[in-house]
Amino acid sequence: MSFTVAIVGRPNVGKSTLFNRIIGKRISIVDDKPGVTRDRIYGQVEWRGKKFTLVDTGGIEPEGVDVMTSQVRRQVEFAIDSSDLILFLMDSKEGLLTTDQEVVALLRKSGKPIIPVVNKVDDYAVKPELYEFYKLGLGEPVFISAIHGSNVGDLLDQIVGFIDEHEEPAYDEGVIKVAVVGKPNVGKSSLVNAILGEERVIVSDIPGTTRDAIDTPFEYEGQKMVLIDTAGMRRKSRVKENIEFYSNIRALGAVERADIALVVLDATREISEQDKKIAGIAHEAGKAVIIVVNKWDLVEKDDKTIYRYTENIRKEFAFIQYAPIVFVSAKTKKRVNKILELIRFVMDQYTFRIEKGALNELVEEATAMVAPPTIKGRKLKIYSAAQTGVKPPTFVLTVNDTELLHFSYVRYLENKMRERFGLEGTPVVIKGRNKK
Ligand code: GDP
Ligand code: GDP
Repeated sequence: MSFTVAIVGRPNVGKSTLFNRIIGKRISIVDDKPGVTRDRIYGQVEWRGKKFTLVDTGGIEPEGVDVMTSQVRRQVEFAIDSSDLILFLMDSKEGLLTTDQEVVALLRKSGKPIIPVVNKVDDYAVKPELYEFYKLGLGEPVFISAIHGSNVGDLLDQIVGFIDEHEEPAYDEGVIKVAVVGKPNVGKSSLVNAILGEERVIVSDIPGTTRDAIDTPFEYEGQKMVLIDTAGMRRKSRVKENIEFYSNIRALGAVERADIALVVLDATREISEQDKKIAGIAHEAGKAVIIVVNKWDLVEKDDKTIYRYTENIRKEFAFIQYAPIVFVSAKTKKRVNKILELIRFVMDQYTFRIEKGALNELVEEATAMVAPPTIKGRKLKIYSAAQTGVKPPTFVLTVNDTELLHFSYVRYLENKMRERFGLEGTPVVIKGRNKK
């Protein structure tokens, strides 16, 4: 799991404004496909080459709950249990309140580092009345304006200053990193155990047991892999609603470090919003995805069962049509080997490279078959195409005007690429660039 930073503070001090200000800066993967669940409570941030997960703890609580003490209590619980660094946000216009001091006293007991942040300092001036915030005894506060963005860069510098000590284990280029994610009880741990069955050689002792994910390196038919398992750790939350939230945050941290996400579903349960949210996390992070339907031994089957399940999954997970689906039982180990074969196959797709000539040939054919759109009398012209990256395969089209590159046409081109090149299991990113 990646380094986690929690924003804690009373309602209205500007937590979500700060969160949006920071997350808004991130360049996200271009994706206009509908059906991706967005969760604006947590997000991945990269600053000066370092990554962390930022959490707006105010968002844990559904809106409309006005019991302030319970709200802050939940934030505090999350921050203490699940974060590595706490940003304690206060409001310069209201000054230092008793509640602030009480919350800080609680946070302090956790021993987690705390950065005091005073928000709504809009006029760039630190006035004498702001000195009272030093009384918290947390050191020099960072004075910011979340709305104007002033000093937010300094704050980010301070945050990443804490990340040094939390180096994630590094693996060689050739190692395939696989995150096993899914709701509690779908069978993630059982699946990991089944995959690591006795016949598999564990390459070495666990090189990096991160705090929230357990990395197990192993080898399958000469291919080095590492399983990043989020199941091993279970936080005993006193607050029921927080459990789902915790597991999503953990999934995010594991997925960010992986190449491929195994999204595990329980065949005996209906597909839920949380299943989709977890799959959405992997998709949005630009990772390859394999859908693993577990506990297949418990399903009463006839010759149409697999077909029905597949159809339902395709409907519910419309945004990851590209993900292969595999039906397994961690208990009987049926088809568990199939997962390992799929991992190798999908990794090839995820790192797929195509020559420029073949790519342009395909684009020419595709545009001849379905003409590019004309918007307000102007026709899209595609001059050339080039692959600019892998993991996932990323393509740039040089066009007359990117405004004319409608997402439905992009999707058409994506489908053509998939027809021709396969690309099963991996997202495909297609971007436009204006011809100079
Ligand atoms: P939260 O409840 O802590 O998440 O607070 P919000 O982010 O919803 O902000 C509460 C109010 O404070 C909103 O009306 C924001 O527009 C306002 N606010 C947030 N940051 C600033 C700031 O830097 N300056 C000023 N003047 N107002 C701010
Ligand atoms: P996790 O929370 O996702 O790690 O789930 P666990 O691996 O702890 O499994 C939850 C429960 O489901 C346990 O009681 C397992 O024994 C059971 N379970 C897991 N996989 C299977 C399976 O393939 N078939 C059956 N029948 N039970 C399973």
